Amino acid sequence: MPVLLRAPGLRRVHAADTEQSERGGADDAMEEGDRRRGFDVVVVGAGIMGSCAAYAAACRGARVLLLERFDLLHHRGSSHGESRTIRATYTQAHYPPMVRLAARLWDGAQRDAGYRVLTPTPHLDMGPRGDAALRAAIENGGAVEFPIADGPWAGVFRLPQGWTAATSSLGGVMKATKAVAMFQALAVKKGAVVRDRTEVVDVTKQGEGLILVKTSSGEEFHGAKCIITVGAWASKLVKSVAGVDLPVQPLHTLICYWKVKAGREGELTTDAGFPTFASYGDPYIYSTPSMEFPGLIKVAMHGGPPCDPDNRDWCTGGADLVGPVARWIDEVMPGHVDTAGGPVIRQSCMYSMTPDEDFVIDFVGGEFGKDVVIGAGFSGHGFKMGPAVGTILAEMAMDGAARTAAEAGLELRHFRIGRFDHLDLRYKSKI
Ligand SMILES: Cc1cc2nc3c(=O)[nH]c(=O)nc-3n(C[C@H](O)[C@H](O)[C@H](O)COP(=O)(O)OP(=O)(O)OC[C@H]3O[C@@H](n4cnc5c(N)ncnc54)[C@H](O)[C@@H]3O)c2cc1C
Repeated sequence: MPVLLRAPGLRRVHAADTEQSERGGADDAMEEGDRRRGFDVVVVGAGIMGSCAAYAAACRGARVLLLERFDLLHHRGSSHGESRTIRATYTQAHYPPMVRLAARLWDGAQRDAGYRVLTPTPHLDMGPRGDAALRAAIENGGAVEFPIADGPWAGVFRLPQGWTAATSSLGGVMKATKAVAMFQALAVKKGAVVRDRTEVVDVTKQGEGLILVKTSSGEEFHGAKCIITVGAWASKLVKSVAGVDLPVQPLHTLICYWKVKAGREGELTTDAGFPTFASYGDPYIYSTPSMEFPGLIKVAMHGGPPCDPDNRDWCTGGADLVGPVARWIDEVMPGHVDTAGGPVIRQSCMYSMTPDEDFVIDFVGGEFGKDVVIGAGFSGHGFKMGPAVGTILAEMAMDGAARTAAEAGLELRHFRIGRFDHLDLRYKSKI
């Protein structure tokens, strides 16, 4: 049975409650529903994490409101674009169980939606044989080392002396924007209300199980619980709302698509069984097979310069990330990708880095107790985990604990805010 959180007096207060709504039919419908029932969970931020959390909470019977500051599916955050990868090869042993849980939940969501956003592929990790991070990833992800010259991609990769390669079967490419849209549509199908162009500026506790969410336009919403998933804006919002210092540093990064050399286009596609891959060492390079733009392949470098999410350099931000990728391609994939003219497409995106690159999944605490939950700091590797994180956040908000995480053997202590207590909070970029 779903647990319904109905705080006494749960209601939504609209600045224009007594006036005619100027926003048209959708809002009128929302108005009527809200007056009748009120919200159990208000989710702030509609990237992949907020959209998954809204869906998970709605699936558990909660009356959900999902608020987004910009247009839905906008390009100013971290969840937009054509592709993200899923892999179980993680340096830290606590992530593979979360990836496996997420993979099951991706399957379930796609079944509910009736269409696919995830294309399974093999995954390939490569790098210097003695690289400690690579060795741990191979072990934790159950990858199998093999001589690249004897494998299916022998003609594509020429590994430097002393390098090794390993494949694993849990891999794939998610259509990023399509996946976010899918979770929003599924949430709405389960009864959630989704509002964009609605910036949350404050969250306050009015009483036990009664949270007031205020927006920049003066609207106010009540919820029994609140989930904050605002990506690169997490530090700013959590500081102003709760006075908590969250060491989440936004980075401006670049996705680059390169032209595949004439005659080679068919070899690097998902249809041909080409893998997603990661190359360890410095720079750390990642790629998805040629898929979204025929004749182009995404090869990019992990990282980027620190940025202010409200004041980004859209023209030259991340330009330093291009040269190392071109040099890597020329050395490791010679004869397959044309680097001379630079990338054909560059797309800007943001990482939200924590000092240890582990996520933040926790109750905000203090006066909010267990009424406000935060998911942030996904450090450039969170997308694949979206459905798992969304489920964990929803269960923490609604039940005070994440039963699904415990059942899947996930240790949430790695994601607690308290781990930063003894850190020098000035972010030290590793890149
Ligand atoms: C180039 C790139 C490649 C990546 N590749 C991978 C990959 O291959 N695999 C993988 O697993 N992960 C990958 N990631 C990481 C992954 O995309 C992110 O971890 C994930 O998208 C973070 O989602 P989010 O919901 O936390 O943040 P966002 O998508 O930024 O969502 C936060 C939302 O909150 C909204 N918001 C902010 N403030 C407010 C407010 N005050 N009121 C209302 N709304 C607000 C924002 O507008 C935004 O829509 C990659 C990231 C990038 C940038």
